[in-house]
Amino acid sequence: MRTSFYNKLRDVFYQFLYPRSCVACSEIISSPTDPNTPFCRDCFAKVRRIVGPTCFICNVPFVSGAATSHSPEQRCADCRESPPSFEKAVTPFFYDPPISTAICKFKYEKQTYLADFFVRLIVESLANLNVDRVMAVPLHPHRLRHREFNQSLLLAKGIAKTLSMPLSIDALIRTRETVPQVGLSKKEREENIKGAFDVAHPSEVKGQRILLVDDVYTTGATLKEGARILMQEGAKTVIAFAPARMVLQ
Ligand SMILES: [Zn+2]
Ligand SMILES: [Zn+2]
Repeated sequence: MRTSFYNKLRDVFYQFLYPRSCVACSEIISSPTDPNTPFCRDCFAKVRRIVGPTCFICNVPFVSGAATSHSPEQRCADCRESPPSFEKAVTPFFYDPPISTAICKFKYEKQTYLADFFVRLIVESLANLNVDRVMAVPLHPHRLRHREFNQSLLLAKGIAKTLSMPLSIDALIRTRETVPQVGLSKKEREENIKGAFDVAHPSEVKGQRILLVDDVYTTGATLKEGARILMQEGAKTVIAFAPARMVLQ
């Protein structure tokens, strides 16, 4: 009773000093559970983690547990028909509000402080990954100039720091400008991204177990193409990572 009273008092005091509004619904955060979360309590409760059954390779949720009986090795139709170059994809959360709202603000409204929050949110998903270094999906220099920062690189930087692992900043590069993937079909996305990457520093790739970071996993086309180039240049393995995943239901 006493503890909860003091916690409340601390929250009120904190709020008085640093009034903040929820990044998803704009309500003033009156009593944060974690002073570092950008969400109000109601929005935080709506964050949806992806839990099984999912494809063993790409982590897409199966419609039902029964669907796995069609694939005893637990691979989705896509991964069976055209196996990706990455060993597996780690995508802990569904890309829907409030996560999607926060990712859009992070990406398009330059709210870069959110990178730290995403890294804290995903940290337990990184616990048992056997990797040697971290890389981000690169932006083309023109896009980078326009946006001023690469959101995937900010995430990769936080992840590398958390895992105490080296971060390769410019080993994987974008050689061709592509139109934004938003609004394209799965097939168009694959065509659009094909041949868009190259490896600039092979020594950072050869024999390495690489964690390749993107901001959102949609069809996986970008991460698949990045992994393909890294494997072609001699990477030992690639694990694809995005904090959130768009799931068409
Ligand atoms: Zn909210
Ligand atoms: Zn799959």
